[in-house]
Amino acid sequence: MKIVAKYETKKVTASNVVGYLEGSDPKLKSEAVLFSAHYDAYGKENGKIYAGAADNALGTAEMLAVAEAYSKASQKPKRSMVFLAVTGEEYGLYGSKYWAKEPTWDIKKVAANLNLDGIGSEVYGAVKTMVGYGAEHSSLGAMLADVAPAFQVNVIPDPMPDEKVFYRSDHYSFVERGVPSLMILGAPAGEKEVWMKRIKDWEKTDYHQPGDVIQPGWAWEGPETVAEVMAILGWRISETDSMPIWLGTSRFAKLERGNTKELPEEK
Ligand SMILES: [Zn+2]
Repeated sequence: MKIVAKYETKKVTASNVVGYLEGSDPKLKSEAVLFSAHYDAYGKENGKIYAGAADNALGTAEMLAVAEAYSKASQKPKRSMVFLAVTGEEYGLYGSKYWAKEPTWDIKKVAANLNLDGIGSEVYGAVKTMVGYGAEHSSLGAMLADVAPAFQVNVIPDPMPDEKVFYRSDHYSFVERGVPSLMILGAPAGEKEVWMKRIKDWEKTDYHQPGDVIQPGWAWEGPETVAEVMAILGWRISETDSMPIWLGTSRFAKLERGNTKELPEEK
């Protein structure tokens, strides 16, 4: 077989967008909970618009909903809250890698990262199932397991471990700098095989394609639940005396915030 591949490389400029809410505790406010979601998709190619509605306008909107809720709350969280909409995820996590290298908050004082990067499974119906990518690595896993039942949400392990999702989205840029991180995926009730098939079908027809647009059947209560769980989880991280830690059983156990050494390849 003969394969001819043609590449064109272009340099472009894009921006991350960041906002923050100052914490209320005189000591803890120097530390921050970092929320992230990538707002880029593929722009316009060959006259077609790649809207990226599920991946990742949904995640970006959920993050903004959390920011809005905190800013309207009568009480302010103890630690500060940083909201980071990153660019260039689809082309190689460029925005998050840049922020991790040139952070606008002292990286040693970033308590945790909560990331949202969707494949749209949270709009299939009411969210009753959640996956916390990275849950097995840090104390954030137990925190999610504690918060989710209040929303009648069942936390399950990664349903597609072969795809190594944990290593493929923006939170991993922060993991490399030693920050315990979690990416939350919402899904409906019922057998995971059913909604997993729906994801797989969608991936074939719409994922990273012009077809990723808002569909009439989307159930908006799902994203609402994802945002609510995220808001409570973020609030708890903000209120807890000490920052989340890596678990002794994790391959990141010895990692410290501020790390600049390259991590060994994941096997
Ligand atoms: Zn994405």
